[in-house]
Amino acid sequence: MKELEGMKVIVAGAGIGGLAAAKELGKAGAEVTVYERADSVDDMRYPWHDDVQPEAFARAGLDVPEGSFRKKNWTFVTPDGAVRRMYEAEEKADFSVWRRALNRELVKSAEEYAEIKFSTAVEGAIAENGRVKGIIANGEKIYADLVVDSLGAFSSLKKDVPGVTVHEADEIFVTYRAFRRKNADAPEAEYTNKVYLKHKGERGIAWAIQDGDEVDVLAGRLGGANEEEFASAIAQLEKENPTIGAETVRGGGMYRIPVRYPATRMVADGYAAIGDAAYMTVPMLGSGIATSLAAAGMLAKCLTEAAGKGAEEAVSVKNLWNYERDFYLAFGAEFCGVDVTKRGVLEFPDELLGWLLTSKVLTNDDVCALAKGHFLNIGVKEALRKVKAAGLKKLPALLRVNAMLTRGKRAIKTARRIPAVYTPRAVGKWERKLVKAVTGKDIRR
Ligand SMILES: Cc1cc2nc3c(=O)[nH]c(=O)nc-3n(C[C@H](O)[C@H](O)[C@H](O)COP(=O)(O)OP(=O)(O)OC[C@H]3O[C@@H](n4cnc5c(N)ncnc54)[C@H](O)[C@@H]3O)c2cc1C
Repeated sequence: MKELEGMKVIVAGAGIGGLAAAKELGKAGAEVTVYERADSVDDMRYPWHDDVQPEAFARAGLDVPEGSFRKKNWTFVTPDGAVRRMYEAEEKADFSVWRRALNRELVKSAEEYAEIKFSTAVEGAIAENGRVKGIIANGEKIYADLVVDSLGAFSSLKKDVPGVTVHEADEIFVTYRAFRRKNADAPEAEYTNKVYLKHKGERGIAWAIQDGDEVDVLAGRLGGANEEEFASAIAQLEKENPTIGAETVRGGGMYRIPVRYPATRMVADGYAAIGDAAYMTVPMLGSGIATSLAAAGMLAKCLTEAAGKGAEEAVSVKNLWNYERDFYLAFGAEFCGVDVTKRGVLEFPDELLGWLLTSKVLTNDDVCALAKGHFLNIGVKEALRKVKAAGLKKLPALLRVNAMLTRGKRAIKTARRIPAVYTPRAVGKWERKLVKAVTGKDIRR
């Protein structure tokens, strides 16, 4: 008999983590049904390429999706137009993954162990006596032992889950993204993967990435911007990157990514969230797909390990807390530090950012780590080298960077103090401390 035999699981939304979890839980014997709003696998999500860390697929037992390629040697552009190149070994570079191929791969492997129902909109959760008992989908009540919420950042379930407070989005990262046909008359681009930091001096980024016959164009602003500002940002990208042609091949719309407090509750009795519904990934760092895939394995492990104690015990918040804890210790804690760094960098004056990026203070390894969404942990020897490289005149600038890193370190440390055992009091206290450490804000649940 398999560990999860007799357990009924609903996966709400065929998100990346949800599909990976459907496979894992079905493989362990659970009866799994996935409910997805889109009409088919090719209507799901965005029609473009995404960056995914190379180890993500092997870790999830998946083949690298067809059409993926390595994306290396990024070039960062400062607000003043200076450039910093990043050099990376081929085998360490992220894969640029065609989202359609990834979706097909995930659906194919999930279908071996689970049923997927397309054209089904999930409207809310059924909550009885303080626990989640199922979902309401297409107007019908469907019951299960466990609901896995894989509905993405705007999950329609979270509002109904007992004990889970949905924090309003702290800010919205609004982004335009399009794949434009490459202008055949333009000379080859000098830099293939060009990212503008604090684009036009504003809180956001932009990029122009050469992608075969197309150019991947993005302009994003934290907190949004009006139509005119976006038009001007895109016009500037076009001017500086003549390979960007006029024809939009894919995408071309505005996309909204909520930037939430890092301490979101991922679990409740009968409920576990995964992917963007669970934890706000750090926008602009391309970590959502890799962490969603990894989380599926953690959820399966947490459930199978407790299966001997019965389904009710396995899906209790006390047991599911182990999944949230594993996730925080593996990814969430570091993201808290990265979040502090990311917001801090966007607040830097243009000259400070320009100097930091182009001086010898940041090594190539530092740039690689930052670009991959890792926190910069600097030892004493390297700190001294940085002070020497900066020179006395730049000491105030370096101290400002150091203060930001210290804040980030504190956030990581607080996050890593996640309670080992779930009690509402201990968890509530930890969440308040964590939000304070990351954002400086005081929340009361
Ligand atoms: C512009 C942009 C660029 C990005 N670039 C990258 C990148 O380069 N690398 C990276 O790792 N990540 C990137 N991400 C983030 C990445 O898309 C997510 O982190 C990742 O997809 C995990 O999200 P998810 O699967 O949980 O949710 P989603 O991808 O949002 O999937 C949710 C699923 O639920 C379905 N759904 C939603 N509501 C309902 C409902 N009510 N009923 C039924 N079904 C529903 C949706 O149709 C969808 O299939 C990017 C995101 C955006 C917006």
